[in-house]
Amino acid sequence: MTRQPAAFCPDCGTATTSRHVDGRDRRFCPACEQVVWHNPIPTAGVAVVGDEGVLLGQRAVAPGVGEWGVPGGHMEADETPEEAAARELEEETGVSVDPDALTLLETFTTGPFAGKYIVSIGFAVRAEETTGEPEPLNEVLDVGWFTPESVAASDAVLHEDHAQRLRFAWERFG
Ligand SMILES: [Zn+2]
Repeated sequence: MTRQPAAFCPDCGTATTSRHVDGRDRRFCPACEQVVWHNPIPTAGVAVVGDEGVLLGQRAVAPGVGEWGVPGGHMEADETPEEAAARELEEETGVSVDPDALTLLETFTTGPFAGKYIVSIGFAVRAEETTGEPEPLNEVLDVGWFTPESVAASDAVLHEDHAQRLRFAWERFG
């Protein structure tokens, strides 16, 4: 599996060809005689909901530098989505939470960005379940508490489908 259509087989390095399999043209390795699947990459994030709003981070990395979103990022191969969301929250904002305290909120898909598609798994948790004062850390320019109304009244731009994640989190946990 690759994050973008593979020009070469990741197993043997042979240049791929095109083959129609399961209703689509796929990249195919003629040496291994197997499809090199192109699939979305799973990510996970968690919306921390306090009395003043939902904790968002301002992105320091592409795509969407300067845009705001719920903290999150790529899952490691051996993580659950809850563990990935909790780890990313702590890496980006310094806020800690027990993965078992997270509630599944929604999912969205996005892309392509340089051929890469994302599946984002969104969780939510009340701020009382977390520890630590949020501060901008890894890959984050700034942090802040937002509601859908306060975003609309500001010049903040929300990243991709994070407007939906913010709204769902605030409606259900605010
Ligand atoms: Zn091969």
